Amino acid sequence: MATIKSKILVIEDDRSIRMFLKTTLAAAGYDAITADDGRSALSVISSHCPDCILLDLGLPDMDGSEIIKSVRSWTSTPIVVISARSMEQDKAEALDAGADDYITKPFGAVELLARIRTALRHTYTQAEKDEISLHGSYRVGDMEIDYKRYRVLVDGQDIHLTPNEFRIVALLGRNAGRVMTYKVILRELWGPAASMDNKILRVHMASIRRKMEVNPNEPRYIFTEVGVGYRMAEETEMKTDGDTACIDKG
Ligand code: CA
Repeated sequence: MATIKSKILVIEDDRSIRMFLKTTLAAAGYDAITADDGRSALSVISSHCPDCILLDLGLPDMDGSEIIKSVRSWTSTPIVVISARSMEQDKAEALDAGADDYITKPFGAVELLARIRTALRHTYTQAEKDEISLHGSYRVGDMEIDYKRYRVLVDGQDIHLTPNEFRIVALLGRNAGRVMTYKVILRELWGPAASMDNKILRVHMASIRRKMEVNPNEPRYIFTEVGVGYRMAEETEMKTDGDTACIDKG
């Protein structure tokens, strides 16, 4: 739970989903404010300075990535995008425009609150980066990325990643909890002129998972965000289970 009342802005045009979000956030101890279209959202953001923004991509008056770019021109306030399952291309576009994370409808209260906690943590403490600069490593579950020796250990054993595999895992570890889009990973690894061919990433990821995961088909450390990219698990996720309250509107 939030110790200081963090202010969360919900931007959603569907009244029932907006109310669900407001109620859920208020019950979890957040100060929830709302806007029902892009234009009013932008004015609320500049007047109320929310700590985190929940943005529905399907708004009547403005395109989601337009809103994100506009917000990003003056603030780094974390933005968690809400999208329908059919809008994978839009999710990638939103992340590339500067959104921090996304959540797909239908989602439950537990998942929503976890995403918001992660987004807020990245603003306030950048915990995983501090951890890395302090210890030179990132740990989750039985996996450890050793940034000083360029190696990854599972159960204390070096899993012998190739240099490119290590760079992918290292990038995901530095951004644990956040989705890294294919575009961002390719650009980070091979520069701005990198080919935007996801196939090479999938090949690398298959090899990484064979070395890292007990069951590569049910990864525990690196998750696939279908059509968008990859995400490294955080320690808090290792214990998460049970999600009941749900909304299922598109
Ligand atoms: Ca909508």
